[in-house]
Amino acid sequence: MNDWIKAGEIAKGAREYGRSLVVVGANLLEVTEKIEDKIFELGGKPAFPAQLSINSTAAHYNATVGDETEFKEGDLIKLDVGVHVNGAIGDTACTIDLGNNSELVKASEDALAAAIELAKPGVEVREIGDAISKTIRAAGFSPIKNLGGHGLAPYSVHTSPSIPNFNNGDTTKLKAGEHIAIEPFATDGEGTVVEGAGSEIYLFKGKKPVRDMNSRKILTYIETEYNGLPFAKRWLTKKFRGVNMAFTLLERAGAIYQYPRLVERKRGMVAQTEHSLIVGESVTTK
Ligand code: MN
Ligand code: MN
Repeated sequence: MNDWIKAGEIAKGAREYGRSLVVVGANLLEVTEKIEDKIFELGGKPAFPAQLSINSTAAHYNATVGDETEFKEGDLIKLDVGVHVNGAIGDTACTIDLGNNSELVKASEDALAAAIELAKPGVEVREIGDAISKTIRAAGFSPIKNLGGHGLAPYSVHTSPSIPNFNNGDTTKLKAGEHIAIEPFATDGEGTVVEGAGSEIYLFKGKKPVRDMNSRKILTYIETEYNGLPFAKRWLTKKFRGVNMAFTLLERAGAIYQYPRLVERKRGMVAQTEHSLIVGESVTTK
């Protein structure tokens, strides 16, 4: 089987398994680890740390080391899962409603369905964005304009083309066989995300000179193990001592970059739905 198809199937399996675990009272860190274990069990590796972003946090909430967060009645949880098989990626997300936000969830799901319907070779990305925006607005909500879909390439989760969640005027056309992810975000807030606290999701930036030997050892591991894909601090604390100090030094040296959490500016509730596609062929995570 093609690695892209396989990565999509594993991502779907991990997403649906994760969906079943997100219930009131469940611990976010435990659910995250079970989802990531499931990815390995199914024969893949995480393309990025499994993310469970709650309420107005739109994206990049990754369980931190020792995270004690539990899901509560009323929470709206975005589960975003990335899987790779030899670098080929499946990126998918769903939203679990533990309260009264089913219409918001449906708006993002309907927007994704409309976008997938349109996403054929030759279509301009602005047309997809327009369909997403119109679907979400018809339901009485707003799309998040500064988040969107993207191309997928071997060991790269975010490449061209960008797939906007509104008509941004971009006339780039989709090409047959291209790998993309489409991810409408719907909110009852303003429709913009701003950067929040550090996520403990990191990216390798480069082999920078660091004096501390433990930090150098950890950086070498990161470089070879993750191949340029995002990783979680908690993955390293299981393998090495002194990770907090090493990460502080490596971040300061510019060897690694920490992503911020992304939060809706007006603290609106946020729903997200995402699938990965091979343009003109199939939806790999459906
Ligand atoms: Mn995603
Ligand atoms: Mn994505």
